[in-house]
Amino acid sequence: MSTATFERGYSALKEQIDTSIASYLQSCVHCGMCADACLFYTETGNPKYTPIYKLGPLKKVWEQEYTLLGRLKVKWGWSKPLTDADLAEWKEYVYDSCTMCGRCSMVCPVGNDLVYMIRKTREGLAAAGHAPEGLIGATTRAVKIGSPMGVKWPAVLAQIKHVEKSTGLQIPVDQANVDYLVLMSSMEVMNFPEYMEAIAKIMKSVGKTWTISSEAFEATNSGIQIGASDIAKEIVSRIVNAAEKLQVKTVISPECGHAYMAIRWEGPNLIGRPFKFKVQHILEILDDLRDQGKLKVDGTLEEARLTFHDPCQIARRGGVLQQPRNLLKMVAKNFVEMEDHGQMNWCCGGGGGVSAIEESHELRTTVFKRKKSQLDALKVEKLVTACANCRIIMEEGMEAYQMEMPMVGLTEMLAEHLPETT
Ligand code: SF4
Ligand code: SF4
Repeated sequence: MSTATFERGYSALKEQIDTSIASYLQSCVHCGMCADACLFYTETGNPKYTPIYKLGPLKKVWEQEYTLLGRLKVKWGWSKPLTDADLAEWKEYVYDSCTMCGRCSMVCPVGNDLVYMIRKTREGLAAAGHAPEGLIGATTRAVKIGSPMGVKWPAVLAQIKHVEKSTGLQIPVDQANVDYLVLMSSMEVMNFPEYMEAIAKIMKSVGKTWTISSEAFEATNSGIQIGASDIAKEIVSRIVNAAEKLQVKTVISPECGHAYMAIRWEGPNLIGRPFKFKVQHILEILDDLRDQGKLKVDGTLEEARLTFHDPCQIARRGGVLQQPRNLLKMVAKNFVEMEDHGQMNWCCGGGGGVSAIEESHELRTTVFKRKKSQLDALKVEKLVTACANCRIIMEEGMEAYQMEMPMVGLTEMLAEHLPETT
């Protein structure tokens, strides 16, 4: 890597150090509680996977640039300056072994938002050219093609035709002045077209108007995952432009964890102004419709003993906690909670872009032991979730541990229980 590229990364790290980060680093009391909250540490015992270790480059730049002691340590030779080799080494800790799940931030006794700092550390590594190949590829495709998986509009259109044929319902495209603009993730388009089918059935059942935009169907944001705010802003802007052009009242974020965090919580900050429309997660929309008496089900309850996996960005980081439980109660007789559910649920092991990193496959499988033990303890027959990425990762983990268990998206499950007249 050239000196200029390293310097770009170093400057990017330096620029990330705002007053929040400085106060977080200053106030850390080295208690180690964040380590026990991180599944990459609990499942491997590797001290390099503790959240605070992952912040090494950021901490070093803060110390050496912004503290007197740090500057003196460099002068006296007690502390070596950050090098390109350090950044290369930290790629594994900042990307492969962090799903940005935010569990560590929940337990810090002094209120340090560790996931915020990891997100900022990624900005430095990405600028220095040390992001993983898989994420670079996904981000390049997102910028050039509009989808991290390289899904182009004709492929979406093919799925639309397929869903129209199987449901007999029309899928609206580029309709203005409708109630909802529905976003999807490429993973849903390609692997779970049941989601689009479920949306079509539910919208008809509740009498709401909706559309998909041919200019902005993709909800996921690789810019946030890799740590490139300029790209993240461009991806959010595409959705904002489409929603404003179609003058929709509400944008629905799909069953994808980080897409919700990107568009709802980071979106307005990235574009530098409030949105002219609301953003809600699909589960929030469905729960509101339930509350208003519009979303009805046929009264049959699923007999299977089942549980719900809370996607980190939707539940812990997004606050959508009660809604899935209200919805599950409508259709499930034997719903049981995992230990450490809701706000403190354990990550699937593949969020935050980790699923796109090929080198992390073995580690992902190792840390899936945590989810396995949560599921084994309950002896459930079915798993429900609300994130296509979690679904893929948990399918991968179950296959590795030879676990047989059907998995379903909650939106899809509700659509299966709509009254007959729908
Ligand atoms: S955000 Fe999650 S995966 Fe990353 S360090 Fe914190 S607990 Fe570990
Ligand atoms: S939990 Fe907070 S105070 Fe304790 S080591 Fe982690 S960051 Fe520092």
